Amino acid sequence: MITSGEFLERMRRLRPNCYMHGELVRRDDPRLMVSMKDILMSYDLAQDPKWADLVLATSHISGKKINRWTHIHQTVEDLLKKQKLTREASHLSGTCIQRCMGTDMMNALSVASKEADEVNNGKTEYHQRFLNFLKEFQEKDMVGAAAQTDVKGDRLLRPHEQADPDLYLRVVDRKPNGVVVRGCKVHTTVGSYCDELIVTPCRTLTAEEKDWAICFSIPADTKGVTMLIEAANPTPRKAFPAEVEKHGIGHTVTIFDDVFVPYERVFVDGETRVASRAALLFALYHRHSYTGCKPAYTDLLMGTTALIAEISGIEKEQHVRHKLAEMISVAELVNAAGIAAAYNATRASSGTMIPDVIFCNVGRKHAGVNIYHEYDILCDICGGQPQTMPYEEEYANPKIRPYLDKYFMRKKDVPPEIQHRAFRLAQDLIAGPIASNMQIAGVHGGGSPIMEDIAILSQYPIEEKKNIARRLAGIPEVDPKAKKK
Ligand code: SF4
Repeated sequence: MITSGEFLERMRRLRPNCYMHGELVRRDDPRLMVSMKDILMSYDLAQDPKWADLVLATSHISGKKINRWTHIHQTVEDLLKKQKLTREASHLSGTCIQRCMGTDMMNALSVASKEADEVNNGKTEYHQRFLNFLKEFQEKDMVGAAAQTDVKGDRLLRPHEQADPDLYLRVVDRKPNGVVVRGCKVHTTVGSYCDELIVTPCRTLTAEEKDWAICFSIPADTKGVTMLIEAANPTPRKAFPAEVEKHGIGHTVTIFDDVFVPYERVFVDGETRVASRAALLFALYHRHSYTGCKPAYTDLLMGTTALIAEISGIEKEQHVRHKLAEMISVAELVNAAGIAAAYNATRASSGTMIPDVIFCNVGRKHAGVNIYHEYDILCDICGGQPQTMPYEEEYANPKIRPYLDKYFMRKKDVPPEIQHRAFRLAQDLIAGPIASNMQIAGVHGGGSPIMEDIAILSQYPIEEKKNIARRLAGIPEVDPKAKKK
């Protein structure tokens, strides 16, 4: 394992290939450091004995202690610990902790690389390549970004039907020692401060789409890779410094302009069914991670709602209590879905534990449909204050401060600065740059809502439910297997 300082040094050594606000920037650009904070935190937690039980794991390939964010889940307990770690670390951050991206991609590829060998009757060596890469990933304590979502072009056309076939990343050339890929991935969380870009398709593929059926990993500064950064940084504090201002989240548009990928880093190549499965597996692992981070975010929205209600003297009002009960229900049902997904996990042929599809997806769906409702509750309890409160600089002005201390008051026994700090946090959550990021991620992160419905409906035994109805109605039951055919 390495320290956060060593990780930062590694980032400094990467070839600059990231653009921000029109400039080529280095990885330690101050505008990126806030977004990178949670990645650095993931290393700091591993050095903290209080976090050891959650953050440390034992590698199943080397037997060494490793950071859990580089671990391949071997047991139900591994899945439970990853979920708990995600929830608890997210409490420290108040936003997306980001390192789950690489973890989820690595777990997906651990399964897919093995299955790719199986469809080739053991004549390929994808899984051994993956294990070699995993060893390096764990020893160097790497951060991986999930470069999955293609730009997709015309949404009604398949990859091979697009006017420009590069709208889905694909193989454009083959060399004796590797492949050349071209395309563009979007929403690449952590892209500008990761070690590796880990790539899978973003959808299921058909037999004629072998060139798009490619899974691989390459260093983030590989020749031909260019990244365009979007960093959602919280509003910096001037008068009342607070932890919340230190945590942001960064994404990139990641362009692959004829990038060479050596075969030792290619884990699926042309096996369309397995590449499709890799895409779905990443989404599945990520939705399971979501059952940790999303309850954590609800905890924050709920805690802020309760705090504002307390300061305002309305915490015992029935409508406030019911609203808090709604938020508690969302947080704990989503969390419970993740626990159920872990307990109902199955073991893949690679040995990796795969969380249950239904529980992961219903949990993620429940979180997604409630996200704006949770903001609605916080906004309702706060009133208009988070949007119209004065700039912080006015509090630093000794001439103005007494006015604010006198008039910015609710309950008289709560000091004005406490009231101000609470509403400033609410402002960050409802009206700041992080708010829009977390709202949109709350709907689309880990795949759009329709993908959750597709996953649920494709796996759920709905015919069995119809048979319950048939039996009670006196209608002959139908064998679900016969119906599938
Ligand atoms: Fe992890 Fe949640 Fe952020 Fe995804 S959205 S990277 S699961 S913290």
